[in-house]
Amino acid sequence: MSAQQELEFVIDTAYSGACRAAQVTQRVQSGQNLRSGASAKAGDEPVTIADYASQALILREIQRSCKNVRIISEEASSHLRAQTSDTLLEQVRELVADALRIEVTRDQLCEWIDYVGDEHASIALTIDPIDGTKGFLRGEQYAIAIGVLREGEPVGGVLVCPKLSFPGPNYPDPSGDPDFRDGGGTTFVAQIGKGAYQQPQRGQVYRIRANPTTDPKHVRVLASVEASHGDPKLVDDLIADLGLGGGKVRVDSQVKYGILARGEAEIYLRPRSKPTWRDHVWDHVAGVVIAKEAGARVTDMDGKELDFRAGRRLENNRGVLATHGPMHDRIVEALAHLESRAT
Ligand code: AMP
Ligand code: MG
Repeated sequence: MSAQQELEFVIDTAYSGACRAAQVTQRVQSGQNLRSGASAKAGDEPVTIADYASQALILREIQRSCKNVRIISEEASSHLRAQTSDTLLEQVRELVADALRIEVTRDQLCEWIDYVGDEHASIALTIDPIDGTKGFLRGEQYAIAIGVLREGEPVGGVLVCPKLSFPGPNYPDPSGDPDFRDGGGTTFVAQIGKGAYQQPQRGQVYRIRANPTTDPKHVRVLASVEASHGDPKLVDDLIADLGLGGGKVRVDSQVKYGILARGEAEIYLRPRSKPTWRDHVWDHVAGVVIAKEAGARVTDMDGKELDFRAGRRLENNRGVLATHGPMHDRIVEALAHLESRAT
């Protein structure tokens, strides 16, 4: 298999694992007692039974199909096993067994969740089984995110966004497509050099492109719903400084990258929430490839390329800035100016 074919195969496997996982996350999100399946990890980050079930389903698929990949994933079974009661573990086991329609033991489940692959492999997959768990718990946007790194470079991305409508206002109405089936939201897929695409649960795939507008009056800025995940004042100061008139679009998770990539907003600014904060790699790889392949530019706030070789976090970058392209340098300059004024 050529390197190209291998990458395509890995992306296809990630895609099918993520779609299967999304069926479970949708079931849990639309169910009654969503909160009862949630608990808190260190640092007050919520995690739910759906996070674990999603990761187990994705990694089972990858373990079965892709031998030469390394896994960098958000969740681990240790937290699940450390609970005083085994109710959560049992709930996750049931969810996964139901989804697969096979018998699954607790040990088997934990083995899938903790699968790390081949630590020497040149391809690494970053996995966020539910990106935006806080949005998920609110019944709002979230994503199942799988990024592909080759020698540390982002080369592939799959982003299943079950709550994001398809295809968005800039694309042809899919209702004339006899194969079209709605209900699964929007899935974004990209491979380096091959463009970025969005697709519904079933039906035609659309190539997507960032919106190249240069008129600041129409520029829209994406930001987190959770104020504590960033620096809302800096985002507001940038909007005022550059006279950006399109408004702020607040959305959870990497769905923001998808929205930028299909041209429904022009800037995604993610300043650090505090000087010591470093973003997780699984919160960006998939989105970065999708945005870049749609023509966007993605760097940190200093205009520096994101460095995904530093482990589980972006240790060598200050925040993240993704834009539609034309205004990128101006925004980096404006941010430097605003930050120097603030100190
Ligand atoms: P968003 O929905 O864009 O706000 O991003 C969700 C991601 O924010 C989660 O996947 C977390 O990894 C990450 N996160 C959690 N706490 C913080 C924090 N204090 N600062 C920045 N990001 C955070
Ligand atoms: Mg996340």
